[in-house]
Amino acid sequence: MTNSFPRLPELPDDVSGVMRTLLEHGSQAYLVGGCVRDGLRGQPVYDYDIATDARPDRIQQWFPRTLATGLRHGTVTVWTGKRPVEVTTFRTESAYSDGRRPDRVTFTDDLVQDLARRDFTVNAMAADISGHIIDPFGGLADLAQRCLRAVGNARHRFAEDGLRIVRALRFVSQLGFAIEPQTLTAMHQEAQRLQSVSNERLGQEMRRMVQTMWWLAWPLWSAGPWLTVYPHPWPKWQPALREGAAAVGTTEAAQARFGRRWQTVLLDLGWQHEWATVSAWMFWLSRLTGASTDETVEAIRRFAWPKQVGRDVQNMMSLAVEDPVDWSDCAWREALFERPAALVGWVCFVFDTLSPVTQNRLAMFRDRLRTQPLHRLSELAVNGHDVAALGLRGKQVGDALRLLAEAVLRSEIENERYTLLQWLTQRLSDLHASHREGGGLR
Ligand code: ATP
Ligand code: MG
Repeated sequence: MTNSFPRLPELPDDVSGVMRTLLEHGSQAYLVGGCVRDGLRGQPVYDYDIATDARPDRIQQWFPRTLATGLRHGTVTVWTGKRPVEVTTFRTESAYSDGRRPDRVTFTDDLVQDLARRDFTVNAMAADISGHIIDPFGGLADLAQRCLRAVGNARHRFAEDGLRIVRALRFVSQLGFAIEPQTLTAMHQEAQRLQSVSNERLGQEMRRMVQTMWWLAWPLWSAGPWLTVYPHPWPKWQPALREGAAAVGTTEAAQARFGRRWQTVLLDLGWQHEWATVSAWMFWLSRLTGASTDETVEAIRRFAWPKQVGRDVQNMMSLAVEDPVDWSDCAWREALFERPAALVGWVCFVFDTLSPVTQNRLAMFRDRLRTQPLHRLSELAVNGHDVAALGLRGKQVGDALRLLAEAVLRSEIENERYTLLQWLTQRLSDLHASHREGGGLR
């Protein structure tokens, strides 16, 4: 069963060190899952998973720095000094009577039994410390053919755990593989099983789909029966999502073009945080489906995605009440003030992509960003101390700074220290008067 070819590329020392420790204690040690699949594809590997017949309590004894991450499922995280490595005891999984998690986990000494419980053949290979591949389910052949095939009886496997349906779609996005016909048929037949999958697990797989080449899975995902059993409001969105496949394109070339553009724009905008792609995608969906802000935020919450995603989407939706081609000078300046520019750029891109009115809004955005007189309050050429020196106190200081910012944004004055202070001094008597009458600085 052990092939001499192909082999996994050389392992980092610390990872083979963990395997060596296990072997020296007379246990088995194999790399499994994504690191074998991606290593064989010549892709960079970030997470190494090791499977062993050693039981968790022994693993904890043999390594100085461990974390009992998933002890109940037999997983101990070993800290190598360079990275965390998950070491999991070989296991078989019994029935998933609630469709959410295995009823109980049974440890085994047999690697092949452990591989048999895994979802797809390309995920069910193992590699020993010298990189030899153990491949009892034909994963190598499927990898060469870029084919996603369930391990064993596909229908049983999806019935056991409905999440595997969405995992299949996620791997289509991530790997660009096609789903083997019988596996795909079983995904259709067992669609209802998704109902008993927790929203958090579903959200985790959806996140990974969105963060990879989601456009590859889109035609399949949006046309299949699965969205009807997603949590609210996804079923309601399905018709619009299906139509949205046209915006992406169904031919390989069209999808590749769309994907390139999507990635380039996101990269150019320099949108920083880890979930930016998810925010971008959800805003795009809200435009496709005509969903309300509340509804979109609800969908985000149900998947247990971070609040930041909801805030980004709300922020973009508040801009999108009007097409950017119709924004006034003032509206542009307000849009680009105290708001990450990437959000504004993304709104423009999505309008460019979905609106029947052809205009290069993204180019407009770039022009406007270049000529924006002030991006944030902290860029004002005066600060709170300067304003306080004119005799303003407490809340008045903030109010004065905002007033100055508004004047700069309206192009009434230049953002230049002397000009700002002079402008403010001229208005001070009015301001004091309005304060005496109980008003603010406005
Ligand atoms: P990635 O590189 O994106 O993390 P991965 O293959 O490592 O891909 P994970 O979700 O991290 O995917 O899972 C690790 C491995 O565990 C998989 O390769 C697969 O063998 C197995 N696995 C994970 N989830 C399931 C599941 N629901 N059913 C069966 N096997 C699973
Ligand atoms: Mg992984």
